[in-house]
Amino acid sequence: LSSRLQMAMRRLTGKGKLTETDIDEMMREVRLSLLEADVNLKVIKTFINNVKEKAVGQKILSGLNPGQQVVKIVFDELKRVMGDESVGISYKINGLTVIMTVGLQGSGKTTAIGKMGAFIRKTEKKKVMFIAADIYRPAAIDQLKTIGKQLDIFVYDEGMNKAQTIVKNGLTYAKENQYDVVIIDTAGRLHIDEAMMQELVDVKEIAKPDEILLTVDAMTGQVAAQVAESFHNQLNTTGAIVTKLDGDTRGGAALSIREISQIPIKFASSGEKMDSFEAFHPERMASRILGMGDMLTLIETATQNIDEDEAMGMMEKMMSDNFNYNDLLKQFKMIKRMGSISKIMGFIPGMGKYKDQLSNVDDKQFDKMSVLIHSMTEEERKNPKLVESSSRRRQRISKGSGMQVSDLNRLIQALDQQKKLAKQMSGMSERDMKNIQRN
Ligand code: GDP
Ligand code: MG
Repeated sequence: LSSRLQMAMRRLTGKGKLTETDIDEMMREVRLSLLEADVNLKVIKTFINNVKEKAVGQKILSGLNPGQQVVKIVFDELKRVMGDESVGISYKINGLTVIMTVGLQGSGKTTAIGKMGAFIRKTEKKKVMFIAADIYRPAAIDQLKTIGKQLDIFVYDEGMNKAQTIVKNGLTYAKENQYDVVIIDTAGRLHIDEAMMQELVDVKEIAKPDEILLTVDAMTGQVAAQVAESFHNQLNTTGAIVTKLDGDTRGGAALSIREISQIPIKFASSGEKMDSFEAFHPERMASRILGMGDMLTLIETATQNIDEDEAMGMMEKMMSDNFNYNDLLKQFKMIKRMGSISKIMGFIPGMGKYKDQLSNVDDKQFDKMSVLIHSMTEEERKNPKLVESSSRRRQRISKGSGMQVSDLNRLIQALDQQKKLAKQMSGMSERDMKNIQRN
């Protein structure tokens, strides 16, 4: 095997490194995707610059082409930015855990409180109570009470009394009645204003909450980030709940919030039903935001199934002069584990055009062929010529394996075919190689 070819093989089977051109090309796609997901522009810019810096010079994993490698890096980075794993609520070990929820009017606060209450009761087996401190619209109080009734969760309310007073009395009531967790509903406005913030600051002062959770409507996209930032600056929020994820938004809001305000996203709320509430999964959200589901699946399969050194070794072996029955046996095993050989080859950039020839090797014949190979002596396996040149040996082998000589002939042909193909691949011109590397 010539060293030039060997080097090219290393590159085209993914031993190469990402160049700036590879990255720029793919980043254009990524940028569009993030724009479509309605991610904040500033966030897109920072994010892409960060990823670019990380990606230059990175090794391209076997089974991936440079573009796919870039997407993989982007995806991993998205997951990382949105929190590698989901973080729940930090409960008090002893005594009452207080959760204050804040957010713009209509962001899904009251609905999320209901869902979160049911979720905590179910997953933590804790005794939960709500406090109705959104006092400006009677309908808001009624809404929470309706939800409480539906879930059989007690709602503390004093009608339209001052929010601070209600919270103070509500917490006393909760302690007296041995509740574990209290969730406070607060007033939101359509837009952030000072009076609202002041009231929230006052309530916070009294409630001394363990968590201040901000509800953000995923449908608001870019705007969500600014909203999150304002709330966070004034109240030091401890986490966010992204709501209305059942809408057709791609969820770019989640990324924007995380990048701009740094607060962790703790929960995802996705529907009108009380059980559509779950811990936030960065991986799912990253996939949704990127919107390249098919490619992500491909990347996952490729990186999971291909043992790159093994695949590489097999290719090199095929191209060498002493490809024998032992190698063929190994190849069968590998193919059985990873799928067809054409699939394996398909993962290797530039090898696609040999796919059709390779698929002539019938996957279903492998078992039969394996038995035949096992009936050969070690010497015969290592030296295929011995089998080809002696009809006495062929008879012995086929008889010993309980098969026909014609079956053995097919095996001999298969080995031959592989060798021929390998020769073709070795004969690729320099220009071919360059093209492949560029693809
Ligand atoms: P609040 O003003 O922040 O308390 O918001 P609400 O909880 O009252 O929700 C405002 C509207 O959005 C209501 O019509 C809810 O039914 C609806 N809503 C809340 N959460 C979700 C959700 O996850 N999915 C959908 N589709 N609608 C939601
Ligand atoms: Mg409400």
